[in-house]
Amino acid sequence: MRFHVITIFPEMFDSYLQESILGRALKNKLISVKFYNPRDFIKAPKNNYKPVDDKPYGGGPGMVMRAEPMLSAVAKALADKKAKKGKIKIILFSTSGKKFDTTYAKTSAKKYTDIIMISGRYEGIDARVQKILRAEEISIGDYVLTGGELPAMVLIDSISRQIPGVLGKYESLEEERVSSSEVYTRPEVLKYKNKNYKVPKVLLSGNHRLIDEWKKRQ
Ligand code: SAM
Repeated sequence: MRFHVITIFPEMFDSYLQESILGRALKNKLISVKFYNPRDFIKAPKNNYKPVDDKPYGGGPGMVMRAEPMLSAVAKALADKKAKKGKIKIILFSTSGKKFDTTYAKTSAKKYTDIIMISGRYEGIDARVQKILRAEEISIGDYVLTGGELPAMVLIDSISRQIPGVLGKYESLEEERVSSSEVYTRPEVLKYKNKNYKVPKVLLSGNHRLIDEWKKRQ
């Protein structure tokens, strides 16, 4: 899978992508992540700085990301030699978009070779960008973030996990197993401020049917 991220803050991704499962997937060339900064596509005469954002029509607080640099950045991603031969999906992050989930991640991993993700900032991106590109608007949850960079990282992480070979043997098993967010490790009895906190008995029983049932209930 090749991820193409349109962002004015590409440095934000460095640390997250270097570590753990994603770091290994990048090293093993199972995924790649390229960045396209709309600032690099601003056409302006020397010494005549043109910002990536501008005031909103109709008034209101905040600035809007201008369409032209965003469209130029996407055009550069679309011109990628490998992407041109592949199956491309264009996503634009928006608070009012379709809610991202595991099913979406699984389908995307199977269906596409290239995913272009457009990260907004400020009050968002000029609406004509979505209309021109027919990009799918995606939200990662019912809350407002400062920008689309975290949503892009969320998609890269969860879609990559669905790509064969990205997860190690242990983690693949973990994906398929009945799992619970309530987990325990040693000691069996934890002493804290004169109180004993015990691991649920069923987890010590060795009975995997009962353990799975307990996990499902959590
Ligand atoms: N007033 C704007 C709104 O309600 O959409 C807020 C824009 S937000 C500060 C800036 C950008 O961050 C958005 O254009 C979008 O790209 C991204 N963003 C913020 N929250 C998001 C979420 N929950 N899911 C996806 N993208 C989000």
